[in-house]
Amino acid sequence: MKSIQFLLLLFLSILFFSCTQEKIEKGVSYELAQSRKESIKDVQYALHFDIPFNQNENIAGKNIITFVYSKNASKNLYIDFNEKGDHLKTVKVNQKATDVVFENEHIAIPAHLLSEGKNEIEIEFTAGDLSLNRNDEYLYTLFVPDRASTCFPGFDQPDLKASFALSLSIPDEWEAISNQKAEITLAGNKKNYQFLPTKPLSTYQFAFAAGKFEKATDPVSGMTMYYRETDSTKVAANLEEIFQLHSQSLDWLKDYTTISYPFSKFDFALIPTFQYGGMEHPGSIFYRESSLILEPSASVNQRMRRASLIAHETAHMWFGNLVTMKWFEDVWLKEVFANFMAAKIVNPQFPEINHDLRFLMAHYPSAYEIDRSAGSHPIQQKLDNLKNAGTLYGAIIYQKAPIMMRNLETMMGEESFQNGLRDYLAQYSYSNATWDDLVNSLNKFTDKDLALWNKAWIKSKGMPDVAYTLDDNLTIRVTNDSIGLVWPQTFQYELVGDQHEVKDIIISDPTGYTAPATPSDLRIVPNYNGRGYGYFAADEQSRNNMLATVNSVEAPEVRAAMWINIWEYVLRGELEAKKTMETILAGMATEKDPLILEYITNRMSNIFWQFTTQEDRQLISAKIDDTLFDLMALEKDISLKRILFNCFRQTASSKEGIYNLKKFWRDEMTLGLEISEQDHIELAYEITVRDAEGSDEILATQLKNTKNPDRKEAMQFIMGSLSSNETDRDAFFESLKDPKNREHEPWVLKALGFLHHPLRAQQSVKYIQPSLEMLEEIQLTGDIFFPKGWVEQTVSTYQSKEAADAVNLFLNNNPNLSQNLKNKLLQSADPLFRAEKILSSKQTQNM
Ligand SMILES: [Zn+2]
Repeated sequence: MKSIQFLLLLFLSILFFSCTQEKIEKGVSYELAQSRKESIKDVQYALHFDIPFNQNENIAGKNIITFVYSKNASKNLYIDFNEKGDHLKTVKVNQKATDVVFENEHIAIPAHLLSEGKNEIEIEFTAGDLSLNRNDEYLYTLFVPDRASTCFPGFDQPDLKASFALSLSIPDEWEAISNQKAEITLAGNKKNYQFLPTKPLSTYQFAFAAGKFEKATDPVSGMTMYYRETDSTKVAANLEEIFQLHSQSLDWLKDYTTISYPFSKFDFALIPTFQYGGMEHPGSIFYRESSLILEPSASVNQRMRRASLIAHETAHMWFGNLVTMKWFEDVWLKEVFANFMAAKIVNPQFPEINHDLRFLMAHYPSAYEIDRSAGSHPIQQKLDNLKNAGTLYGAIIYQKAPIMMRNLETMMGEESFQNGLRDYLAQYSYSNATWDDLVNSLNKFTDKDLALWNKAWIKSKGMPDVAYTLDDNLTIRVTNDSIGLVWPQTFQYELVGDQHEVKDIIISDPTGYTAPATPSDLRIVPNYNGRGYGYFAADEQSRNNMLATVNSVEAPEVRAAMWINIWEYVLRGELEAKKTMETILAGMATEKDPLILEYITNRMSNIFWQFTTQEDRQLISAKIDDTLFDLMALEKDISLKRILFNCFRQTASSKEGIYNLKKFWRDEMTLGLEISEQDHIELAYEITVRDAEGSDEILATQLKNTKNPDRKEAMQFIMGSLSSNETDRDAFFESLKDPKNREHEPWVLKALGFLHHPLRAQQSVKYIQPSLEMLEEIQLTGDIFFPKGWVEQTVSTYQSKEAADAVNLFLNNNPNLSQNLKNKLLQSADPLFRAEKILSSKQTQNM
């Protein structure tokens, strides 16, 4: 009895000690980051990777980390290494071999092995492949936000900036690129690159790529472009403009900030399978190849998107790279600056373009898409652990925040705003800062109260409601539906009666705005110049008036603002989708602005596929196809023609329409368009998803005819989602459960689009549930935009109750899903919920 009691006591005490012993959390928690920031500084990495010929062989790595340490208590110093324990080979602390504890993705260095002051830790390891994007002929890193530690051991947090001295051993036929210049030596059939030490960089800014790349150097600026595109004519046609766009952006930023380009060299690599449009590694921007190498027939919109992307990534060299956020919850700050500066930079490059219109179209529709949904969130979000940083990204950061920033600039005045930014950049160069630090800098140059503004725009979620009353007075209140907060901003209202009158409205305090109106004023056009942000209510008469007059309004930004209003009314069931589609069809014939034409053709495609029942689609498709075809044939402007063609390719559904898709594909007809290899591939996909006669053969022939190896590989993958046989498609979906098959994320997203195509909705609705079950895993294995892309492509195009139920069931069954992921799902499902509601209420009316 006694011995049993003793054993029990022993057992309990072991249990107690093992429970209370400090256990490090996976990822990089806010606490870990804080404590490391307090105890180490002046970090340097001497990193080496030995890259073999065969992509399946391991990459051996070594990292010599030096840093200055100040002891804090007896705690371990943790080095992040998010790989399995067997990837860790040897650890030497201050030249002495050491047995270390490796747990939960961290190497624990006991404090007693470290000295006060300078220390050196040498680690030999096998590099983790997760963020190395290894292909047969090339590999590249993508370490944002916290993926550096999946590849090599280090302090993977943005405010421990370090100098990186990288050396690479690569196959001799390969080229390598990184943040710095390199000295190259040959060693047998390998080539050694010793890169110079970098300026202080955050781990997510460090990058390298190696592989079979072509390169071209601009004789004027000295910058080099690495690329893989095999069509040399296409490269030549783009090259000069790509260099010029970068140079212009660099000059502009130097001028605006009064700080010279802050890093040593400036090159970039174009990578066919790159996950994003671009990533701003200092001195070594990586782009998705197709974002920069445009087809000869590229529209003005596409050319402007390219210019904006280049300006965006270049702006990051100052905003994000020179001054970096302390913690990833302020990641929006670098993105808003990059976008905001991009808009300023791109303007002079396209003098023929209406830039207010461009800003409106590039930001408002995407921001509203999120902000009108139940999954919206404030610009500033909280982040407990870096492993969840990827979930912070989205349109609120990329599109809403620039609107906020422009509003701030308007409120402060351009010069004060610029002075505030210069102060901020100078003060925190090669270091880190928070949003509050920026507000402090701005406050030095304004007497405006930034507090109320900050609360509404930065700390609150959702789009504000803009309500009005019109009698002897026009009275306007701007509130946020859920919190009733006032939203300081500036916009215009048009009063339409016997006379037209445009009123400038400044909302700066809770009393809103009141001004006398002429009694004969009957209707309004709210947010007349498109500067205001929110849902602008209008009565039925005003709504119908907007629909009746929008196509004849002369000023493009007013026309665009009206279209954006109209779309909000359609989504809220306040304007009929069918009636709106007729106005769009009429507008396509008269609309000569490419941005607006693109916007309304996309809305038409939305209405056609999502807000129209399958039966109604059959009734109207011939009219749509004929209209688009005739307009395409008549249109002289190549950009407009291309937009019409893109819309036609997406929506053509009538017999005649599909017949014409085939004629385009067979080169029997071009209507003056240049049909590229990528166009042929897209046409083959669209024909196949329609189960058109002969589509299997078309797809097989297309694969055979596709010359570019990267496009061919993509096609081989995507074809799996297009099979006319449901069992094959089931097998394709099953294959996506293996993370290996999700490695090429753009391919997966494209394939999901076809798998869930509205024409196949009835058979594919069953994939919704299992796809959502995979979401948490996808967030951990995929890159930052992938979870949103995954849910978006899975749920957003449906219209049925069954699909809406599947989403709701998943939400009910998973109450512990992280708020950020839940938000992403609610954002993506918003069009589905709205379509289901609108279509079911219509059905009830018909009965
Ligand atoms: Zn960016």
